Parts: sequence; structure tokens; C-alpha cells
Amino acid sequence: MPEQSSPQPKRIAIIPGDGIGKEVIPEVVKVMKAAVSAGSRELSIVEFDWGADRYLRDGTTLPLDAVEMFRRDFDAILLGALGDARIPDNRHGADILMGLRFRLDLYANVRPCTLLDRRLTPLRDRDENDIQFTVIRENTEGSYVGMGGFFKKGTADEIATQEDVNTRKGVERILRFAYEYARKHGRKRVCMSDKSNALAYGHDLWRRTFAAVRGDYPEIESSHMYIDNLLMQMVRDPSQFEVIVTCNMFGDIASDVGAQLAGGLGLAPSGNIHPGQVSMFEPVHGSAPQIAGKGIANPMGAVLAAAMMLSHLGLTGEARRMETAVRAAIAEGQTTADLGGSLATRAAGDWLVRRVESA
Ligand code: ATP
Repeated sequence: MPEQSSPQPKRIAIIPGDGIGKEVIPEVVKVMKAAVSAGSRELSIVEFDWGADRYLRDGTTLPLDAVEMFRRDFDAILLGALGDARIPDNRHGADILMGLRFRLDLYANVRPCTLLDRRLTPLRDRDENDIQFTVIRENTEGSYVGMGGFFKKGTADEIATQEDVNTRKGVERILRFAYEYARKHGRKRVCMSDKSNALAYGHDLWRRTFAAVRGDYPEIESSHMYIDNLLMQMVRDPSQFEVIVTCNMFGDIASDVGAQLAGGLGLAPSGNIHPGQVSMFEPVHGSAPQIAGKGIANPMGAVLAAAMMLSHLGLTGEARRMETAVRAAIAEGQTTADLGGSLATRAAGDWLVRRVESA
């Protein structure tokens, strides 16, 4: 009988970055390795030291060949966080994060808002069944493309413009991504949100494209809400949502509200995805300078982002093991202080490792 070849290891690039990114990512690596070693798959992990220290040392932000290298040599990227008070304009962070999002064309920002324990939501009388929706944010267009400028800067007559870029191709692909995501995850409802009553050109394009696309997914219930109403409804009755799809800026805001409904920034994961190409996963939180260096950051958002990554790479059993461990830690109060526990970051990571190993 021919010898069975074991599957190729999944190649993961890790960028811990700055602040609490550097504290939570080592814990994630421990938990991920424990989850994977319990199964038959392997990971090959390579760490990159891009972030504030490296930038201040030698000026490196995102090296010129980084994008090609990731496409050629890696299956996925895990990012901690970027941001450091010593670099007030966040030049390095913008180069690295926006550089990867735009140059790898990671057009779908996927942010699941899943309440893992009813005690963690600030909403009264809501439980795990009510808060389990996903915000899908367009990630490569809108107001975040950096087009615009100043005129008469610093004078009393100053003018600043900021362009909002919406393309038919860009809008259509994110809408289709949202429907395909709903199909793949057994979700039955997609709500598209815009502000087409005020943004009469860019968001009119969203409305018309939505009208053209929704008919291709007849088994999914499609709805539309203006963004102000959407945010109000998310707080009033989050159980009505399964998949929300919206533009770059509104998705940024709606997913932070969603993260709070589901227990706060310390718990929220996200993926920057281009189907079929190397994609990047990260916790929703930033470098959190106020708590950085104290060893108290919650590693769970980053652990859940790594679980999303493994699931995206087809390691669904391994991903489930990590998610189950996070749920157990919350249920048993084995958490950092932001979730009411008393563990330090490293102890929280150790607890998750033990749980994954004993599952
Ligand atoms: P950025 O602009 O890079 O997003 P920021 O400081 O504005 O950074 P965050 O880094 O996301 O925002 O964090 C805001 C606050 O939320 C932190 O100061 C901290 O109190 C809390 N927080 C965020 N992430 C965590 C975490 N992993 N564990 C505990 N608390 C957290």
C-alpha cells in the first residue's frame, strides 16, 4: 500500500505589532499550537517584527516585497495591533495595516458579533440567542482610500476635502460576499445599510447594485436600513440581524457597536478576506496604550481571530477547540479583569492551553 502523505503544514505569518498586540499574540500562538497538535495537521509559523520599535530603529514599515512574499509563501496572516504614542501620525501603522488591506485587496472585513455569555452584554434581558450577527464591512473603498486634500491649510479660510470612492465592481463584490457568507454559514437574512437618502450618488450606487444582486439569492431574506436606523435597531433588538453588509466607514462604526453588545473589545475578532487568496486576521481592538505593558490585556479577541483564521483554512475542528475553550473560560470566570476575572494575560493564555489540551 502506498504510504499516506500527511497534508502540507499551513503557513502562518505573524505580526505582533505594538502595545498589547505584543502581549496577546504569544498567548494566541500557544493556544493555536495546542489546538493543532491535538489533531493531525501542522502549522509553520514565521514571525515578523514590523511595528513601532522597528520603524524607529531603521525606518521599516511594510517592506516593498512583503505583498509578493505573503502571496507566495503564506496561507494566512495574523496581526496583533499597531499604534504607538511615539509615532503620533501612526505612519507605520497606516503603511502596514492599510498597505496589506489595500495591496492584498482584502476587500471583505468580517466581524462576527457573537454573545458567548449573557452576563457580558450591556443590554438588559438579552441572551446568547439574541446577539449572533456578523458585520461585513467593505474594506478597500469608501472614505478610507486617502483621496482629498487641504486648501489654505492653517488659515481661517481653510478647506479640507475627503473623497468617498464607490465603484460598481467594489460594491457588487462585497454584496455577493455577504450573501455567499450567509449561505456558507446557514444564515437566512442579509441587511444592507447605507445613507442613500443623503449621499445621493455614492450610496445610490449601493442601492441600485443591491437591487440588482439580491434576486440571485432568493432563499435569503434581503432588507435595507439607513445607517442611523441600523445602529438604533442593533441596540433595540439585535436578534433581527444575521448578516449586515455596509460600506467601509459605516462598517467600522457598526462593528464597534456590535463588539460592545457582544462583550467588549477584548473579545472581538475580525478577518480581512479575499476569497481564495492569502487573508489577514486580527482582533478588533487596537494597541490600547493605556493598558499596554501591564500584562492585563485580554487575549481572547486575538484567540478568536486565530480560530477564525484556522476555520478559514479548513481546520474547523481545531478552530472549534479554541472557541470552546474561550466559552469555558468565560463560563468559569477564568478571565482577565475586563471580563470580571483576575487573571493576567499570560495566565489567561495558560488556562486556555490547558483547556484545549484536555478537550
Ligand atoms: P486604536 O486607535 O489603535 O484602535 P485605542 O486605544 O483607541 O487604539 P483600543 O486599543 O482598541 O483603542 O482600546 C481602547 C480601550 O479598550 C483600551 O484602553 C482598554 O481599556 C480596552 N481594551 C481594548 N482591548 C482590550 C483587551 N484586549 N483587553 C482589555 N481591555 C481592552
